[in-house]
Amino acid sequence: MTDQSCLFCRIVAGEIPATEVYSDETSVAFRDLNPKAPVHVLIVPRNHISSISEMSVDDEQEIGHLFRVAGIIAQAEEIAETGYRTVINTGENAGQSVFHIHVHLLGGRSLAWPPG
Ligand code: AMP
Repeated sequence: MTDQSCLFCRIVAGEIPATEVYSDETSVAFRDLNPKAPVHVLIVPRNHISSISEMSVDDEQEIGHLFRVAGIIAQAEEIAETGYRTVINTGENAGQSVFHIHVHLLGGRSLAWPPG
């Protein structure tokens, strides 16, 4: 399922350009336009699922897959040894701005905890 009004659906469809670093049958990963770390990649499901709050049981495998992809990309970007963070923002208080589930993969520098 895709949503023509969704930015990340349009990136997945190739209608809006992005710097893709990985893709497979269920997911696409591309560099964040406004990176918050030397490595900042967004990993998204091809299917439109707006947020964790909207996930159904049928989405479990697809969303779980995003984290395995994060590990693959971390290896490729050479941040697996030094460490990295995977984040999903959900809703207003978390600052979610694009309503198509995405895992942020951040690394290449020391990351403060807790996040702001
Ligand atoms: P979130 O705030 O968790 O919803 O994250 C959305 C992310 O999408 C932000 O980090 C933005 O910088 C990023 N972003 C917005 N538009 C684009 C785009 N066209 N290509 C790549 N990343 C984008």
